[in-house]
Amino acid sequence: MSFFNTKIENLRSVGTQRATLLQKELNIFTYGDLIQRYPFRYLDRTQFYNIVDLHDDLPYVQVKGVLRGREVVGEGPKQRMVAKVADASGELELVWFKGVKWLQSMVKNHQEYIVFGKPSLFNGKPQMAHPELEEVTETKPGQSYLQPVYNTTEKLKNYHRLDSKALARLTADLLRIALPHIHETLSPALIARYGLMSKADALQQIHFPQSTELLQAARFRLKFEELFYVQLKLLRQKTQRKVELAGQIFREVPTLVDFYKNHLTFDLTGAQKRVIHDIYKDFCSGRQMNRLLQGDVGSGKTIVAFISMLMAADNGAQSCLMAPTEILADQHYTGLKVYADQLGISIGKLTGSSRTAERRVLHEQLRNGEMHMLVGTHALLEDVVQFRNLGLTIMDEQHRFGVAQRSRLWQKNPHIIPHVLVMTATPIPRTLAMTLYGDLDVSVIDELPAGRKPIVTVHRYDSNRLKVFQFLRDQIALGRQVYIVYPLIEESETLDYKDLTDGYESIQRAFPEFQISIVHGRMKAEEKDYEMQRFVKRETQIMVATTVIEVGVNVPNASVMVIESAERFGLSQLHQLRGRVGRGADQSYCILMTGYKLSKDSRTRLETMVRTNNGFEIADIDLKLRGPGDLMGTQQSGVLDLLIADLAKDGRILSESRAAAQELLNEDPELALPQNQNIRRHIESLSSTAINWSRIS
Ligand code: ADP
Ligand code: MG
Repeated sequence: MSFFNTKIENLRSVGTQRATLLQKELNIFTYGDLIQRYPFRYLDRTQFYNIVDLHDDLPYVQVKGVLRGREVVGEGPKQRMVAKVADASGELELVWFKGVKWLQSMVKNHQEYIVFGKPSLFNGKPQMAHPELEEVTETKPGQSYLQPVYNTTEKLKNYHRLDSKALARLTADLLRIALPHIHETLSPALIARYGLMSKADALQQIHFPQSTELLQAARFRLKFEELFYVQLKLLRQKTQRKVELAGQIFREVPTLVDFYKNHLTFDLTGAQKRVIHDIYKDFCSGRQMNRLLQGDVGSGKTIVAFISMLMAADNGAQSCLMAPTEILADQHYTGLKVYADQLGISIGKLTGSSRTAERRVLHEQLRNGEMHMLVGTHALLEDVVQFRNLGLTIMDEQHRFGVAQRSRLWQKNPHIIPHVLVMTATPIPRTLAMTLYGDLDVSVIDELPAGRKPIVTVHRYDSNRLKVFQFLRDQIALGRQVYIVYPLIEESETLDYKDLTDGYESIQRAFPEFQISIVHGRMKAEEKDYEMQRFVKRETQIMVATTVIEVGVNVPNASVMVIESAERFGLSQLHQLRGRVGRGADQSYCILMTGYKLSKDSRTRLETMVRTNNGFEIADIDLKLRGPGDLMGTQQSGVLDLLIADLAKDGRILSESRAAAQELLNEDPELALPQNQNIRRHIESLSSTAINWSRIS
């Protein structure tokens, strides 16, 4: 057993009671857990603001001053503690609304404190709410001026004296005995090439940095290592799969040639052709394809999917295309059926609302091979759905599915694993794609079909509604159609539903001369379909909807997208919604409606939308605003539990570490060379890693 698996209670100065607390409150069970809880910031004991210079726009800062008076004011829940500190330049008021009792016993008048917090001006005077206080003590010579600050909980701090300082002491104790046990986990070649600090030094410096430079070096080393191992595992998996998993070979393409010659009504873009070529190469390789197709909204992924399905059909294999919503499945089915009929290929549809009798027939046709192509929703994952010879599975809007579903599709052919193509329109920043889909090959459609005009996006306040409505009337008079979308956030579904129905009524009142469709999540599939079809057939001019419209819907004649309460949508969602227009030859518009009161982040989102149509740029900004975990939504959470690296900020380190991992595998695929023994040993020890890839494959 390794030293780092030692139970935390064995550490001198921990003991059973504290061990239980550390486990319960902070998930610290072992030496390894403690040493890997890196400080979340550092107090630089040499840098202080003068109180007179404090203002509203500063981030967290520290000042040094003497406490001058403290008092508890108010009663009951309004009770708070107020204190003043003064330095040579002025006075700062401090307020706490919580932990008043404890503070009363801790905070000493006339004591000199380091005060850390976010300043604000209240009636022109500087104030800090809930600052952290630390008594000024003499700095011993040789002691670092960068003091680590650890996350802890109110409970541990207030009742058990396990505050940040106490954690620092425990960590220091541990480091003293741990140093001889810390083995280098990277190879000498990598260390030399990237100028990395040793593992032991990095752990020492990350907790107790001797200088800003050494802290930087330690952080770089630990981030590099973390990302390197994530990438190494992914790339090994990818390589192994390529070696081990055979794929059906689809070399013949007669129907595809017929399709190109006689039925395809437009020219494929260069990017589409390139991607189709990538896929064809995979199909001829004899290995299973695992490919991600990234392409912005409207870049034409569906036709690429269909062409791939044709290649399968041309070689006697069945294929399926899975979409996240019924609306989208219907639309794919309707669109592709036109082509399939022309080519004499059978295509079926399976969704949650398919009737039992229909299903029975379909199941049989899939089993006996009469049905060549299947389009559907999650319903096609069900065990009763069995194929005679499934050769290709495609997931559209992959980000809408859980990671696990990718692998369920694999099991649909007992003899040979089908090829897999996953498509995503939410352009994912490269860093995130390299991690989430790091085990896939990636193709990108980075070009829109010719003749598309960039969508004009504007931000309008609710007070301008009449003008906006007039604009809609003018557009409809020109023969166009309009979407009006209301937010849907699941936590307050009832409220949103009310917003939507209120909105629908007011739109009806405002546009008595037009026909209006409505689509939302509470409707039955047939009702939704009926309303969608009315809109597609131009029987209605306006479509009022919730975000069920967001994904993939394609009505080229609709050229205006109005998004109500646009401040409530995330950036990528706004971009997806906007992608519903701009699909025909007409100039299209996206109008973002909001009230006057907007948070800083909302403003950034709106400004970004107005400024650019580029999905990749938008994805990067989204990642910075929201952080990677949130961005991918709950389905993907847990996949990205990184200890120190941050995918939103460490893109460069990620690329370097991935390149390093790839190079290593090229030179030493089995990690058998003696110079790589550190790496081999470490990857074997990473049995329970932060990233649980077993869920993916
Ligand atoms: P997405 O990539 O968002 O799924 P779609 O596949 O729905 O985009 O394509 C959007 C629209 O563009 C569809 O109407 C499709 O028929 C059309 N389209 C696709 N490729 C081309 C092309 N090369 N030239 C012209 N129109 C195209
Ligand atoms: Mg699509």
